[in-house]
Amino acid sequence: MFDWEEPKIDDEPRGHPGVSVIKVGDLKRVRESERIPMPKILLVEDNEMNRDMLSRRLLRHGFEVLIAIDGMQGLEMAHSEAPDLILMDMSLPEIDGWEATRRLKADPATQPIPIIALTAHAMVSDKEKAMRAGCNDYDSKPVDLKRLLSKISGQLGVTRAE
Ligand code: MN
Repeated sequence: MFDWEEPKIDDEPRGHPGVSVIKVGDLKRVRESERIPMPKILLVEDNEMNRDMLSRRLLRHGFEVLIAIDGMQGLEMAHSEAPDLILMDMSLPEIDGWEATRRLKADPATQPIPIIALTAHAMVSDKEKAMRAGCNDYDSKPVDLKRLLSKISGQLGVTRAE
């Protein structure tokens, strides 16, 4: 379930009274100091090389990362692990990412979990197809980490540190 609270940073005035803006870097520091776990990301990806590279980079940014290697395992882990966000490769064995997304969004238990689609196809129609399946956002591979982190932050309600 998406139930973590944004910590407040009281010693960093931002110039927008009443609006608290937390960057990913700050978030990691504050959460560590308060012993709050970082957001848990479920990465559903069948390609071992993509999986290893992306999971390592997300870990380096402080996220907790869980890995599923096909659509069926992705569905199971979305239920058993209650991740804060799912990065969903679309081209997957067993159940593809579109079908897995449709099932997750049709289930009240997993519907609130934001899903960002990842596909090697950079065509507009692929983006539309992913959004129609219920994905909350979309990014194309190869992954541009800065761009992806900003989309992750957007879905988690935080902004990315520059
Ligand atoms: Mn794939």
